[in-house]
Amino acid sequence: MQQVAINGYGTIGKRVADAVRQQPDMEVLGVAKTRPNFEAETAIEKGFPLYAAVEERAELFAEAGLEIAGPVEDLVAEADVVVDATPSGIGAQNKELYEEYDTPALYQGGEDADLAEVSFNARSNFEDAVDADHVRVVSCNTTGLSRVIAPLREAYGVEKVRATLVRRGGDPGQSDRGPINDILPNPVTIPSHHGPDVETIFPDLDIDTLGMKVPATQMHMHSLNVTLEEEVDAADVRELFADESRLFSIPERMDIDGSGKLKEYALDAGRPRGDIWENCIWEESISTVGRDFYCFQAIHQESDVVPENVDAIRAVTGAADAQESIETTDETLGIGL
Ligand code: NAD
Repeated sequence: MQQVAINGYGTIGKRVADAVRQQPDMEVLGVAKTRPNFEAETAIEKGFPLYAAVEERAELFAEAGLEIAGPVEDLVAEADVVVDATPSGIGAQNKELYEEYDTPALYQGGEDADLAEVSFNARSNFEDAVDADHVRVVSCNTTGLSRVIAPLREAYGVEKVRATLVRRGGDPGQSDRGPINDILPNPVTIPSHHGPDVETIFPDLDIDTLGMKVPATQMHMHSLNVTLEEEVDAADVRELFADESRLFSIPERMDIDGSGKLKEYALDAGRPRGDIWENCIWEESISTVGRDFYCFQAIHQESDVVPENVDAIRAVTGAADAQESIETTDETLGIGL
């Protein structure tokens, strides 16, 4: 059993903790937080040993009546691997701690790519992370793009990717984010930083991305155009995608017209927190014109990276190969809408 530490128990960290707990070959050694709040209370209710991420703040937990198992250093020292799910930039500050205890670490997409030896997407480059000490699980958007690009490249070859990312202003719990009533080119410069991030997974890929931010919290939406190296029928792409467990093609019969109904469907289907780990591609949007492929896909920013973190744990610990890991993760989480 791999002993997994989770440093940073927020949107991503708490989901990764639950997913790790469901795996047959790993367990949650503990989670670390900086301050007591509802998430700290839930961690304790779920039976996750809670560690103090910042020594000076440890007494705040006692004042809130929450029992602390120890400082984060103890957790990192004992763990086989640590998943750092702290806010962007804090992971970089934590690297020294993981190096000090010689504990392999996973970072999240908010960190700079050069913090880690490898940027990771299970479907695209699992093997690159095998036995690595510092791995960055790429962002929700880069994960969503990589999952589509990998099979298209393998099946038809990709000449150029153009993607417009309509991004949610903030997660549902982020009351300080926006815009509230606007549509922002964001970043206003073109191409956006997302393309270079996808190139950390596919270094030789030709990709341009444009970003926007809108007053929504549920999901991101991508409008994709991929110029392939050969002419392909849309029906063939639909079949190709049907074989990809982390791509969900939304059938017309479901009458799902946007991210609101998608989230409702996930809740009805009994998904924890209404999470959608798969890319959601509108089947009717899967189109080709000559060598150009088009589609719309929705990406659940809070959860699509969760199975990727689980697979990255197996990669760095050498516990399984890509196929075995992806299958185990998919089966235990119930991936495949
Ligand atoms: P979050 O703010 O929801 O959670 C971060 C948690 O870390 C909070 O509980 C915070 O209290 C805690 N924390 C802060 N400083 C800490 C420290 N020094 N040590 C330990 N814990 C500390 O953030 P998030 O949305 O989960 O994002 C985490 C990472 O995941 C970021 O790199 C982000 O870019 C990336 N990411 C976020 C999303 C998303 O949509 N939320 C999607 C993909 C990737």
